[in-house]
Amino acid sequence: MVETAKKIDANTFAFFTRNPRGSKAKQLDETDCKEAIQQMQQAGFGKLVAHGAYTMNLCTAKQEDREFALQVLCDDLQRMAYLPGNYYNFHPGSHVGQGLDAGIGYIVDALSQAMALDYPVTVLLETMAGKGSEVGGRFEELKAIIDGVGKVNVGVCLDTCHVYDAGYDIVRDLDGVLKEFDRVIGLDKLMALHLNDSKNPFASHKDRHECIGKGSLGLDTFRRIVNHPALAEKPMILETPNELPGYAAEIAQLRQLYGQT
Ligand code: FE
Ligand code: FE
Ligand code: ZN
Repeated sequence: MVETAKKIDANTFAFFTRNPRGSKAKQLDETDCKEAIQQMQQAGFGKLVAHGAYTMNLCTAKQEDREFALQVLCDDLQRMAYLPGNYYNFHPGSHVGQGLDAGIGYIVDALSQAMALDYPVTVLLETMAGKGSEVGGRFEELKAIIDGVGKVNVGVCLDTCHVYDAGYDIVRDLDGVLKEFDRVIGLDKLMALHLNDSKNPFASHKDRHECIGKGSLGLDTFRRIVNHPALAEKPMILETPNELPGYAAEIAQLRQLYGQT
């Protein structure tokens, strides 16, 4: 992964800790992890942003399914100890009709248990589009989880497609949205970004990613994002519908936008 990232001029990347649509995980190779760390140090990489499985729903209705999700989370955090000091980001979950407060309670319980062993990882809750019964479409919901867990190594990964779909207008008022983030959660908790354009209009609650500059956010929004002082030095991860050459082109494009104010 590190070698591939270097080839496309990236200095961070995301990876799935296991099959994102299942739950199976490959055995980790300790020697390989050590070499990855060394290569990343040499190349001046920033922090990585690992992504949990989409199927891991910590606040699902059935208790046995929640217990399975918790096991997956514990195993992921333990695996992150092979790459100490990096980020692990995941979708808070969908409360599937039990109500927001119950959902937040389950997520807090699970995270508190999984983080009790203090693995060397910072856990990032992702801002969601608010599709169906998704938790995390409002900053207040993420704040409630962060406060409920009460640990310093819990933060937020801001997904540009998701927040726009959720009804935070980063196209017309990026400053205003970041001020709102600061008021509700605190900008010190904003630790990484997912850079995605959106296939859908503002506040659509849909969550369909588009390539950078080709959707409703537009290139100018990304120009403002990569140059915003509050977002400087944060890992920015592409989750656009691309293969490697497309990612290489988007990284080059974003690097070109950097400095154009
Ligand atoms: Fe995500
Ligand atoms: Fe995302
Ligand atoms: Zn998404």
